[in-house]
Amino acid sequence: MVERLNPCHAVYVGSFDPLTLGHQDIIYRGARIFAHLTVGIGINPDKKPLFSSEDRLQMLQEIVEPLTNVKVECFHGLAVKFVKSREASVILRGVRTLTDIESEFTLSLSNRALEPNIETVFLMASEKYSHISSTLIRQIAAMGRDAAAEHLKEFLPAVVIAPLLSKYR
Ligand code: ADP
Repeated sequence: MVERLNPCHAVYVGSFDPLTLGHQDIIYRGARIFAHLTVGIGINPDKKPLFSSEDRLQMLQEIVEPLTNVKVECFHGLAVKFVKSREASVILRGVRTLTDIESEFTLSLSNRALEPNIETVFLMASEKYSHISSTLIRQIAAMGRDAAAEHLKEFLPAVVIAPLLSKYR
């Protein structure tokens, strides 16, 4: 007997450190596909993040505010366990490059081994955001406030820009 989970509820998991226009695009597209979308911010105690979990939660809450079927939460531990705890049946992820596909494929196999009833669904990055990563953003921001400021709006939701620049003052 197959265990029934909510097939209409997906959880988009990631670090969002910081949130980018690429993440926002996946959230908006995911919200059109699934009846309910939870954005899960993974908190990894072994990594020192640029933004605290509270900051990331607040920024994500601001950008999902117009989307009535989306909520945001932080979680500790394995993503797949968080998805199960929310009675969702889909992990949503985005892929940009062949390198992403390779690592995401391995991750999805591990997640399926842990929770066979939870499927990973991938959305291909939109062409205009496919070069954006949180790592790139942190590198641009580190170039210095003035040099970075003019570029960042091409990559980031407005709500992220000032808090990011203040980190590198
Ligand atoms: P993680 O550390 O879990 O990879 P990220 O916040 O870097 O967390 O990414 C979360 C998810 O969003 C991943 O599936 C990643 O491939 C995807 N992603 C990141 N940037 C983009 C982008 N520009 N377009 C589409 N998907 C993206």
